[in-house]
Formats: sequence, C-alpha cells, structure tokens
Amino acid sequence: MMFTGKTKNLAVIGSPIEHSLSPAMQNAAIRAAGLDYAYVALPVLPERLEDGVRGLRALGFRGFNVTIPHKSAILPLLDEVDEAARVVGAVNTVVQEAGKLKGFNTDVDGFCGALIAHGCSLRGKHVVLFGAGGAARAALYGLFRAGAAKVTLGVRDAEKARPLAQAFGRYGEVCVFGWHDGAFAEAVADAAIIVNTTPLGMAPRMDEMPPVPWDAVRAGAFFYDIIYTPRQTKFLQQAAAHGCPTLNGEAMLVGQGAAAFALWTGRQADVSVMTRALREALEEQRK
Ligand code: NAP
Repeated sequence: MMFTGKTKNLAVIGSPIEHSLSPAMQNAAIRAAGLDYAYVALPVLPERLEDGVRGLRALGFRGFNVTIPHKSAILPLLDEVDEAARVVGAVNTVVQEAGKLKGFNTDVDGFCGALIAHGCSLRGKHVVLFGAGGAARAALYGLFRAGAAKVTLGVRDAEKARPLAQAFGRYGEVCVFGWHDGAFAEAVADAAIIVNTTPLGMAPRMDEMPPVPWDAVRAGAFFYDIIYTPRQTKFLQQAAAHGCPTLNGEAMLVGQGAAAFALWTGRQADVSVMTRALREALEEQRK
C-alpha cells in the first residue's frame, strides 16, 4: 500500500502499546476494503496524554483507539462523548470531525455483538458476570441496552462493587454477591448466560479461573469468557466439559475493532479478515 498526502491517519494510543493487536486487525480491514487509510500504534505515557491528544488533533488524525491506561482519563479532553461511553465512563474510540473529537465505547458493541452473533439472545435474560471492573461496566450497559432482564455480579469484594450496581440500577435490575455466598449460587442457578470479565485464567496464569458453583449451573447455560489468550481458558474448558456452549473473547475484540472501523470510514469491516489477522498476530506473539 502506497501512503500519500491524501492518506487518512488512524492510531491506537496506550502505554505499553507494543503488544497491541489493533494495527494488524485494522490494517488488514483497510487493505481488504481498498481504503486509503493507515493505522499505527503510538506509545503515550499517562503524564503525556493531554499532549498526545493535542498532537493527534493538530495532525488531523481521522481517529484513534484508546487503551490502557487512558480509557477514562481521556474523557475530559474530548469535545463530545456519546451516551454509551459517558455511562460506562470509558472511551476506546475517538473520531475527529471538522476539528472536533468525539468519544465512543465500542467495547459495548463488541461484547454484545459477539453473543448475538453466536446465537445467544439477550432479551429477558438473567446474566451473571464474574468481576466488576471496566469490562463489566461496558457489559452491563450493553446487556441492558439489548434487553437483558437482570444482571448479577459475582465478585471477591461485594462492598467494593456495590456503587457500580447502584449506578446501573437505573438501567435494569443489578445484584451483587460475594462469589462464595450461597445467594450467588442461587443466582447462577437462574442464569442463562455466565460471563468471566475478570483476568483470571489469562496467559500466563492459565491455571486460574473464577469460582463457578458447578452444581448450581443450569443445563445448557451459555459460558462466555472475554479473555482471548489462551483461546480456551480453564473456565471455558470446564464449561465445555459440563456440556455447556462456550465463546471466548476473540469475537469481542474483533467486534470492538469493526465498530471503530465503521465509525472512522463509514464502511462495514470484513470481520473474517480481521479475525484472521488477529489470529496471525497472536500466533506471531506466541513465538
Ligand atoms: P479491571 O477493570 O481491572 O477489572 C477486573 C475485575 O476483575 C475487577 O472486578 C477485579 O476485582 C477482578 N479481579 C482482578 N484480579 C482478580 C483476582 N486475582 N481475583 C479475583 N478478582 C480479580 O479489568 P478490565 O478492563 O475489566 O479487564 C478484565 C479482563 O477482560 C482482562 O483479562 C482483559 O484482557 C479482558 N478484556 C477483554 C476484552 C476483549 O475485547 N475481549 C476487552 C476488555 C477487557 P477487584 O476490583 O477486587 O480488583
């Protein structure tokens, strides 16, 4: 691909950024669509975030992704923030239009889109989430927007997670339990979808997993782990061994990227091309 003065620039900013998979996914989608865009990874330290955003604005970047540790800190630096990003309190995608920066949260679309694409309907469902961090916030917003009836958070520290449950109580019914409480097992027994949003089980600590009360799990409950390295976490291995359908975090990662691509280019991304590029990049990282 030949870059010229007409090429539109895109980026991902974060710290560290060397292992970001977004350049591989986005450039593959750009090539497949035959678009004149270029996507690069830019290291931006927390104390340089304001400078970094000012730079991207001055350089006329069409847009950029935002990753750890800037997803919340960037909010006050933007001209506008869409409702999902405002409620979740995190931005992962920025679009520049006529010099104005607008923030979005495409993790919300990625989280729910992956479930729906795998035949898991959300309307009226009771969903259990292990964890109550940033990804759980995006999940809560997306689940209620998609019509879920109730979300139960299973966490190691219920007191810490209570403010999150209260904040989302206006969108739907949210309960919080310590994950060793009997009441949590009762919630699991009632749930159609059980999700791991904690980092438990992520490489290299692949022997870890959140404590699932297997005796309570309904036959056929859908298990979703938003981790994508390894491809099958211990959480998903055990779910499969119990005969439950499973989904890993790859489709969420691709989905958030595809939604960002559509915001920047106005075109639908080729999701299969992005998935292939992601798998190749992960394979390369494993070497
Ligand atoms: P986060 O904001 O740090 O939240 C992590 C949550 O997990 C918190 O509730 C935390 O509880 C809990 N937790 C962390 N370590 C724990 C441990 N050792 N034992 C028990 N609970 C623990 O992280 P996040 O941004 O939500 O990300 C969580 C995971 O999702 C990561 O593995 C990340 O890679 C993955 N993710 C995937 C995608 C995707 O596209 N597939 C997108 C976003 C995130 P405390 O509050 O008690 O610490």
